[in-house]
Amino acid sequence: TKYVYDFTDGNKDLKDLLGGKGANLAEMTRLGLPVPPGFTITTEACRAYLRTGADPDGLWDEVGQHLRRLELHMGRELGSPTDPLLVSVRSGAKFSMPGMMETVLDIGLTDASVEGLAAHTGDERFAWDSYRRLIQMFGKTVCDVPGEAFAQALEECKAVHGVTADTGLDATALRDLVETYKKVFHDHTGREFPQAPHEQLLLAVRAVFRSWNAERAAVYRRQERIPADLGTAVNVMAMVYGNLGEGSGTGVAFTRDPATGARGVYGDYLENAQGEDVVAGIRNTMSLSDLAAIDRRSFDELMRVMSTLEGHYRDLCDIEFTIERGKLWMLQTRVGKRTPAAAFVIAAQLVDEGVIDLDEALRRVTGKQLATLMFPAFDTAAAPAPIATGVPASPGAAVGKAVFDAATAAAATEPVILVRRETNPDDLPGMVAAAGILTGRGGKTSHAAVVARGMGRTCVCGAEAIDVGEHAFTVGDTVVREGDVISVDGTSGRVYLGAVPVRPSPVVRYFEGELQPGHDRVVDAVHRLLAHADSVRRLEVHANADTPVDAVRAQRFGAEGIGLCRTEHMFLGERRALVERLILATTDAERDAALDELLPLQREDFAHILWAMDGRPVTIRLIDPPLHEFLPSLEELAVTVARAQERGEQPGRDAELLAAVRRMHESNPMLGLRGVRLGLVLPGLVAMQVRAVAEAAAAVRANGGDPHPEIMVPLVGAVQELEITRAEIERVLSTVEGVPNVRVGTMIEVPRAAMTAGEIAGAAEFFSFGTNDLTQLGWGFSRDDVEGAFFSRYLELGVFGVSPFESIDRTGIGRLITTAVNEGRAARPDLTIGVCGEHGGDPDSVHFFHAAGLDYVSCSPYRVPVARLEAARAAL
Ligand code: ADP
Ligand code: MG
Ligand code: MG
Repeated sequence: TKYVYDFTDGNKDLKDLLGGKGANLAEMTRLGLPVPPGFTITTEACRAYLRTGADPDGLWDEVGQHLRRLELHMGRELGSPTDPLLVSVRSGAKFSMPGMMETVLDIGLTDASVEGLAAHTGDERFAWDSYRRLIQMFGKTVCDVPGEAFAQALEECKAVHGVTADTGLDATALRDLVETYKKVFHDHTGREFPQAPHEQLLLAVRAVFRSWNAERAAVYRRQERIPADLGTAVNVMAMVYGNLGEGSGTGVAFTRDPATGARGVYGDYLENAQGEDVVAGIRNTMSLSDLAAIDRRSFDELMRVMSTLEGHYRDLCDIEFTIERGKLWMLQTRVGKRTPAAAFVIAAQLVDEGVIDLDEALRRVTGKQLATLMFPAFDTAAAPAPIATGVPASPGAAVGKAVFDAATAAAATEPVILVRRETNPDDLPGMVAAAGILTGRGGKTSHAAVVARGMGRTCVCGAEAIDVGEHAFTVGDTVVREGDVISVDGTSGRVYLGAVPVRPSPVVRYFEGELQPGHDRVVDAVHRLLAHADSVRRLEVHANADTPVDAVRAQRFGAEGIGLCRTEHMFLGERRALVERLILATTDAERDAALDELLPLQREDFAHILWAMDGRPVTIRLIDPPLHEFLPSLEELAVTVARAQERGEQPGRDAELLAAVRRMHESNPMLGLRGVRLGLVLPGLVAMQVRAVAEAAAAVRANGGDPHPEIMVPLVGAVQELEITRAEIERVLSTVEGVPNVRVGTMIEVPRAAMTAGEIAGAAEFFSFGTNDLTQLGWGFSRDDVEGAFFSRYLELGVFGVSPFESIDRTGIGRLITTAVNEGRAARPDLTIGVCGEHGGDPDSVHFFHAAGLDYVSCSPYRVPVARLEAARAAL
């Protein structure tokens, strides 16, 4: 196997093998952009190393050959004492994981070569600055020396020399610092800092391989749903120096504003700096227009390169660059992360600019982003004066208690705002857990900003007025302590004391019909892309709605029918008393009397929903939960009865109820008397519900409506259950005048139903997968009991990458679904098949249902737009 690719060999489509960074470095090289030369070690080599714990065969020979080529090209040898070649060793996985893995710069510096570097560049300060950076990064990354140890030594050195910034340290000071760093290295590792350049390289490459499995990288992958077994590529690249004095520097830039999508150039630049200095927020950065003022030539060259990149990638790009003594070098590019709002705005803009078509625009936005855009925003009219304003780095309205460290945030049970001076990758678990993030330092490209945007978390950074301490921050005279509630507006950058009320987002107001297109760029983009999505998708999108209000909202959000109308709420409230009478009935007459009283109430409920959904299908599910759910709890009743007895009263009705509750008690209600089973043992219940549907439909029709009710039988496991119930349904339907055609179908939510779907289709005109129950019964665990109990452990152990209740388990539950689809359709070719249950609105699951050949998905009204979008993306 070939494990090493020169930058001149690769291209942007080789991300699997070369990682995103390597593939894009190769692509920029191919485009003739100024990229320092280098080569990429493949992800395959990393996987082999992680699997076996040993270097793959032949890897170092190949690296050696490529290194010699690089040395020839540069006219320098790695770590040579006279004029050394230095390289960086950079991680870079298929999917960008900013700052999660490791990179070591300045490999090749030793006690000997540092003198050569100083002599050759004529800049002694620069050479020693680079050497101390190497020892620090190498120590931390390769040998696990705690970063704190170096940071402390640096602070002490700055104090001794009376300077505040690292740039204030001169060559002598830095030479001393190198001595201290070497001691720190020795103290923690028990060995000297390696003086053989090739050994440095080898150890760094292995460390980057291993950094794939670093805790924070694993957390990030879980959050972003990146598979855990991809491995990282390693890029070895000739160093260019942004720390060679004033005419040098390093920066990051975006071709469009990643927060709003506005056209233009956005970025930060730091003079006399290297590597992470810009994003780490160690000194205040300057804007790119400031760069234009101090180095016009490099700025113009940067603009040329950026427009080449946008033209080539046809999308927003973000880049890392370095200027070495007036010469621009490109160190990285990728299609940039962006906020959800920017994703929609940019996609629509690029269509307008003729760069991409509408199909491509749909590929560039996601249902998850759309869901984020539907979050509420602060009601600015009701907000007090802000206590501070920072950079609006990632939009959203977050309210929570201020906490000041990641561990507290991660452990919190209430919404919290993580407040930090600046964040670093160790803060990730806290950032994941927090409702919002606030930092005192750093710009749009700081660690906090990049990570928050990536996970759609609200973030305000660089709120310079706030002074962040260990358990409080101060701003002016105000002290905000741990536990005080604050509100953070990631759209405006404002920070408020207390909880600011929120109002619906513009996108939701647009769906609700309260905001027309033409007033808001994000709404306009959503409007346009969803219209196109509706013309592209094959899957219909229905909604789960139990009330007329929900039904109306669902249609505004684009639902084409109701896929699940639950009837259980129709037994609650004042009607409970009737249900109690039904359950306690000892004679047919008592039971029929209770049912007769429920009938007109149900009929009215159904009539309202059928009117609300005039002309569209309404799938009504017969009552599903165990009846004792409608009775008071055993404990409460027992206490009431016992008290009555103590007082010497006649327990009467309560005692009867208690006896019924005891009689009906089930140790596994989920597996007990529910669904179709109820109708089979409780005479008259199904008949009453069906009669209510039939009479409601007949009445709507008589008044000029166009009702399309369907009757759905829950929890069927055997065709016999369905056949018996169906006969009863048809008997009742035939007794009511003027009923439209009512289709009868079943839920497929018991594994046995899925495995006998061919038989069941004989008695069903439609199937609807109840994926919640199918998942519970298929895995043999109950959602209510297991999510808190052991799911986080299962996720950690990699039993699954995401909860099977959140996203359909394709391999297991998915197989039940495809089996049922195939066998059902074989038995009855015109069988309609849909899904109701949370999965119907989950983006990844929607793609699965599309591929499985379903006719529709049904989800909660707020999820309908997400499902419309993802159904289209699945069809592209
Ligand atoms: P990350 O993936 O965390 O961004 P990178 O591999 O991009 O890590 O490297 C960290 C920093 O070092 C970046 O700012 C990058 O531009 C800089 N850097 C990497 N290689 C070189 C090089 N050969 N010369 C100068 N700077 C470099
Ligand atoms: Mg980078
Ligand atoms: Mg169910």
